[in-house]
Amino acid sequence: MEVKIGAVVLAAGQGKRMDAGIAKQFMKLKGKPLICYALEAFEKSQIDSVVLVVGKDTVDYCQNEIVKAYGFTKVKAVIPGGKERYHSVYEGLKVFGCESVLDYVLIHDGARPLISGAVIRRVIEAVKQYPACVVGMPVKDTIKVSNAEGFAAETPDRRYLWQIQTPQAFQFRLIFDAYEKMMHLHNVQKRITDDAMVVETMTSCPVKLVEGDYRNIKVTTPEDLLIAEAFLSFAEY
Ligand code: C5P
Repeated sequence: MEVKIGAVVLAAGQGKRMDAGIAKQFMKLKGKPLICYALEAFEKSQIDSVVLVVGKDTVDYCQNEIVKAYGFTKVKAVIPGGKERYHSVYEGLKVFGCESVLDYVLIHDGARPLISGAVIRRVIEAVKQYPACVVGMPVKDTIKVSNAEGFAAETPDRRYLWQIQTPQAFQFRLIFDAYEKMMHLHNVQKRITDDAMVVETMTSCPVKLVEGDYRNIKVTTPEDLLIAEAFLSFAEY
């Protein structure tokens, strides 16, 4: 039977740290809206369909000015996201959940325009072996954990520290059921910043770390745009 792989691409954040007056996902990067880069990478990949999650006021704009205008044929739905990242992910997963035909799903921050075909291929190969996979890279700096007073409380061994990126890839049922379980919990502090955390807290499934790419940065603050432009100038992007 043919394996079906979907992707949820997230672009419903407000981009407050960019302080640009325009949502960062629509800011121009080398003449093209930033969100187009991730969509292009999935368009060229073995992903079958994409759900694009955007701010509720930009659904029509994205449908017309991004999906139609740039001809992204794999984008099957453009839907409004929620307050926090995990709300937006859940909305995206529910679109696929209704169809319930997916084997695997990749969840990607639209704010990471430098996602390469190689990283997408690597995480897809990995998820066929391990049901929950995240891409990341070993940290280069020493990381310290601070106490509430702003003093160093701990210095974890750097050999075991990874900075986590997206895409994160999962067997669809595993991540969908984990999200369903989490979303139905009440009175729980949901400090969820990535999808692997949902698997870690709601299931006993181990999460496999897969090699990403140091260039796969999340565009968050204005200087990140310059870095992304520099990387995009390399021939292979
Ligand atoms: O806020 P953060 O930098 O973690 O956002 C990562 C990604 O999640 C971005 O692509 C952003 O657009 C998306 N996001 C979302 N819905 C939210 C918050 C963030 O889709 N409520």
